Amino acid sequence: MQSHTVVLASGNRGKFDELDELLASHNINLRLQAEFNVADVAETGLTFIENALIKARNAATHTGHAALADDSGIEVDALSGQPGIYSARFAEMHKRGSGDQSNNELLLEKLKGIDSEKRTARFRCVLVLMRHAQDPAPLIAEGSWEGRILEAPAGSGGFGYDPLFFATAQQCAAAELEREQKSRVSHRGQALQTLISQLPHYL
Ligand code: IMP
Repeated sequence: MQSHTVVLASGNRGKFDELDELLASHNINLRLQAEFNVADVAETGLTFIENALIKARNAATHTGHAALADDSGIEVDALSGQPGIYSARFAEMHKRGSGDQSNNELLLEKLKGIDSEKRTARFRCVLVLMRHAQDPAPLIAEGSWEGRILEAPAGSGGFGYDPLFFATAQQCAAAELEREQKSRVSHRGQALQTLISQLPHYL
């Protein structure tokens, strides 16, 4: 069967390894955009889909190959959906430092005094696969993972908001799940399974 080169529009090695493991068995030869000296592009969209499209198009334009991008974040109902697309930059945008710990501290502060049943939230992930930079119909796959924001961190695995996210279906914090277990049920895992199911009709 023919193998397809797809450039991952991300500099994140962890993300690459996770995606490569599953895509390799579907005849996709995943490459990092850094191999082609593709610089990161500004994520100027207002939705996960727009930002994933911007990143995928940038990688396809600069490499001449098909490109895959992912955009993800956490949406908190009591904060009208924030931090959403700004999840990675949440603390930075509020001039409260940067990185996972500052983001988590700020989230806890913003939800202080809010009861457990009003702390509902979900992780979202959008994956976009473009065959070329002018592809008028990119493959878009979405995943979401329901839960609520804890009042204190729990667990030591994962990254980002995982210690504060209590997953409804699993009845534990995302940071308490094994890596393999999380990638099966998470927003990213769901989006990837959907993408893979569409691949035979696409590439
Ligand atoms: P990006 O899509 O890599 O830019 O990630 C956006 C941000 O959303 C990350 O920096 C995390 O703060 C958050 N995020 C996305 N997915 C997860 C997850 O699986 N666990 C915890 N935080 C996540």
